[in-house]
Amino acid sequence: MDYFPLFLDLHQQRSLIVGGGEVALRKARMLLAAGTQLHVIAPDLVAELAQFAAEDKIMHTARTFLADDVIGHRVVIAATNDRAVNRLVFDACEQRGILVNVVDDPALCRFIVPSMVDRSPLQIAISTGGQAPVLARLIRARIEAWLPHGYGTLARLAGNLRDAVKQKFGDDERARRRFWEVALDGPAAERALAGDEVGATQSLQTTLAAADSASLQQGAVYLVGAGPGNPDLLTFRALRLMQKADVVLYDNLVSPAILELVRRDAERIYVGKKADNHALPQEEINRLLVKLAQQGKTVLRLKGGDPFIFGRGGEEIEELAENGVSFEVVPGITSAAGASCYAGIPLTHRDYAQSVTFVTGHRRAGEIELDWPRLTNPNETIVIYMGVKQAPRICEQLIAHGRTADTPVAIVQQATTPQQKTVIGTLSTLPHLIEAAGIKPPALIIVGNVVTLADKLAWRKSQA
Ligand code: SAH
Repeated sequence: MDYFPLFLDLHQQRSLIVGGGEVALRKARMLLAAGTQLHVIAPDLVAELAQFAAEDKIMHTARTFLADDVIGHRVVIAATNDRAVNRLVFDACEQRGILVNVVDDPALCRFIVPSMVDRSPLQIAISTGGQAPVLARLIRARIEAWLPHGYGTLARLAGNLRDAVKQKFGDDERARRRFWEVALDGPAAERALAGDEVGATQSLQTTLAAADSASLQQGAVYLVGAGPGNPDLLTFRALRLMQKADVVLYDNLVSPAILELVRRDAERIYVGKKADNHALPQEEINRLLVKLAQQGKTVLRLKGGDPFIFGRGGEEIEELAENGVSFEVVPGITSAAGASCYAGIPLTHRDYAQSVTFVTGHRRAGEIELDWPRLTNPNETIVIYMGVKQAPRICEQLIAHGRTADTPVAIVQQATTPQQKTVIGTLSTLPHLIEAAGIKPPALIIVGNVVTLADKLAWRKSQA
C-alpha cells in the first residue's frame, strides 16, 4: 500500500492555501465544502477568491509566503506556480509535522487528494497513488453513474438511528452488524433509493422494533464456489456473501485476487489442501464449520471452481445437515468451463464431440481406479482434474484401452488468471511436454479432437 487512506474532519480547523490562482480556487472550494477555516496567502487573488475574501469566507494575507505561516494549520496546500515557493512550503510543513500537499508534485506531498464521489455522508475516494489520475477520474465517472443517489440519504437515515440501535443491542456487536445488514439491504433501502425518506425511516424503525438478538444471532454456513481464479468470474451472490462473512475458510485454489474481495475485518482461516498436503484434515474442516456456525457466525467456505465438482463440498455440508446448522450452496464456474473458454477449446462441438466427461486423475491407495474402457469413445471429450502428477499413467492407460496415441490433448495451467499457460500435444507427447514446460498444479488436461479448435479459437494470448 503506497498511501494510507483516511478522511479528515476539518470542521473548525485551520487550513492554509499558498497561492491565489485558478488551482488555488479549486482547492479552496473543496476545503470550504469540508467546513474548514481557510487562510489564503498570495500577493494577488483571482476574482472569485477575492470575492470569498470580501465575503469573509476565507482569510486573505496579501503577501508572499513565509515559513512560519504554516504554524497553527492542520493541512497546507501549495498551489503556486513557483517551484521554489512550493518547496519552501513543503519544508516548512515537514519541519513542523503538518500535512502538506504541493499540487501536481507527488514528491512534495505528505498527502494526496483522491478523486471523489460525494453523496455525503457517503463518500467514495479513489486514488491511483498519483500514477494515473485520469484513470481515477474514469473510475469515478463509472461509480457516479452506477451508484444511486439515494445511498447518501440512506446513510444519513442510518446515522439518525445509530443511537437507538446501540441502545437496543448494547455491546452485542454482531447483532448490531446483522441488524444493519438486514435493514440496509431490505425495504428501507428500496424506499431510500426511490427518494421516499419518510417511508425509509419508518421501515428502518419497524425493522428495529421487530429485530431481537436471538434472531440476529443464528449462524449459517455458505459453501461458495469462487470460480477458477479470475475475480471477474465470481457470481454476484458469491461476492455479496464474501462481503458479509464473519469468517472465511479457504484453500490453495482460491486466488489472492479473490481473497482481496472478502470483507476486510473477516477472520481468514487457511485450511490448505494440495493433492497430498492438507493443512487440516477434511474431518476437521467439517467439524470447524459446525463449530463456527454454532457460535452464531456467518461462515463462508470458499472453494475453487464449483463446490460440488471434485470439491468435497458434499461431505462438508453433510456434517452441517447432521448438526442442524443452516447452510446454502452457491455454484461457481468450474475450472473445466474456465479452462475451456479461456483456452479456446469448446468441450462439445457438433463436428468433434457429442459428450464430455469430467474425471479426477488423483488416486490414493485403495480408491477406485478410473473406468478406462468407458473413456475410449473418440467422439467424447475428457476433462481430467488433478491430473498433472498422474499424466504419464493416464495417457498410457487411455492408449492401452484404445484411444489413439495421436489424440489431441491440451493442458491448461492456472486457467483464467494472468498466469494461464497452455500446452498442446497428443496422448503420446503430453507427459514430455508437461515436464519440458514445467507445468504445475492447478492444471486441467483436456483430451479429444476438440483440442484442435484451439488453433483458431484461442483468443487470449497466454504463455506457452
Ligand atoms: N471444485 C473445483 C475442482 C477442485 S479439484 C472446480 O470445480 O474447478 C482441483 C483441481 O481443479 C486442480 O488440480 C486442477 O485440476 C483444477 N483446477 C482448479 N482451478 C484451476 C485453474 N484455474 N486452472 C486449471 N485447473 C484448475
